[in-house]
Amino acid sequence: MEDCIFCKITRGDIQSEKVFDGPDFIAIKDIEPKAPVHILIVPKKHVESLKDIDESDGNLLGNMMLQVKRIANEQGIAESGFKVLINNGKDAGQEVPHLHIHLMGGVQMDSIL
Ligand code: 5GP
Ligand code: ZN
Repeated sequence: MEDCIFCKITRGDIQSEKVFDGPDFIAIKDIEPKAPVHILIVPKKHVESLKDIDESDGNLLGNMMLQVKRIANEQGIAESGFKVLINNGKDAGQEVPHLHIHLMGGVQMDSIL
């Protein structure tokens, strides 16, 4: 996807602050963090949202969630608590149409965003 900002970031065409880089996905610091820890886990292949995944994406999504746990530990928020969020489509307020997991923590948050 030529014009997709997260495809540009995963390709390295746009700079980002990476906390993880693997074969299938990266984890970057959100440019406008809504919590002291706010990290985005972004697959390298372009998928718009969860509506576009299928059975072949099971390992990818499972591995992304395992990485969420590792990063929560590295960032020191595993015990204090953290929020994991995926916005899908217009009504959810998804701004970037390339699937990503938000990992947020380091502050007391409301139970519903
Ligand atoms: P969404 O609303 O799509 O779930 O969230 C998009 C997120 O991407 C927002 O939290 C926004 O701050 C973040 N974001 C948008 N553009 C960039 C960028 O160029 N770099 C980084 N690191 N984050 C971005
Ligand atoms: Zn993309």
